[in-house]
This record gives sequence, structure tokens and C-alpha cells, in this order.
Amino acid sequence: MEKVSRWRQRISQLRRIRGLLENRLMKPKAMRVGSVVRQYMFCGKPSCVCHRDAQKKHGPYYYLSSKEEGKSRYKYLGKATSPEVERAQNYQGFQRGIARLGKIHREVIDLLWKIGKGKMEKGDAE
Ligand SMILES: [Zn+2]
Repeated sequence: MEKVSRWRQRISQLRRIRGLLENRLMKPKAMRVGSVVRQYMFCGKPSCVCHRDAQKKHGPYYYLSSKEEGKSRYKYLGKATSPEVERAQNYQGFQRGIARLGKIHREVIDLLWKIGKGKMEKGDAE
């Protein structure tokens, strides 16, 4: 019985998390499809410190990678603060949220099965 109340508690907890998550996902921010790639680069000046110390490379510069007909495409987005970077990050956040929602649902279903099994009779029917 103790197990069952722990499972019920977990379901209540998941329900709260799911509610918050759904509230957020219901009001998505502007998004740009694709994933953001962050890159640091060497510059063209041979005397620049970036050529001696890899830690001092320039950047970050952001690219948007997306798949079109199975091919990866990259589009330069600019520096960290550009609105396009933000929109691409919003898209990734949205995707993660949806994936999380799926996980929560699977866990709830799992717990409900465990609880339900405790009430199922085994063996021969009358
Ligand atoms: Zn440089």
C-alpha cells in the first residue's frame, strides 16, 4: 500500500509539472525552425592572438542548421544577441518541452499500470 501512495504522489507531482509545461507551450514565442550551431573561428590576421591560442578564437558566431531533402544546410545568423538566434533557441526550447511532455505522459501511464495491476485478479476465471 505504501508503494501505491508513493506512486500516487508522483502522479500528482507530474501533473503539476505537466500543467506548467503546457501553459508555457500553449503560448509559444516566435520561432525559427532548425538548430543553432555555435562556432569560434580564426581570423585572417596572422599576427592575431587567435592563431597562437585556440582559447582566444573569435566568436561565438551562430549558424542555423536545418535539413532540407536530407541535406544539412547552414545559414549564418550573427552574434549571440540577434533576434534570429533567439527565435532558433525558442524553437529548440519548444521541441524540448514537447519531448518532456511525452516523457511525463509515459511515466504517468506506467505508474497507472502499476497501480492498476494491484487491483487485477490473477488466475482462473469463475
Ligand atoms: Zn584573430
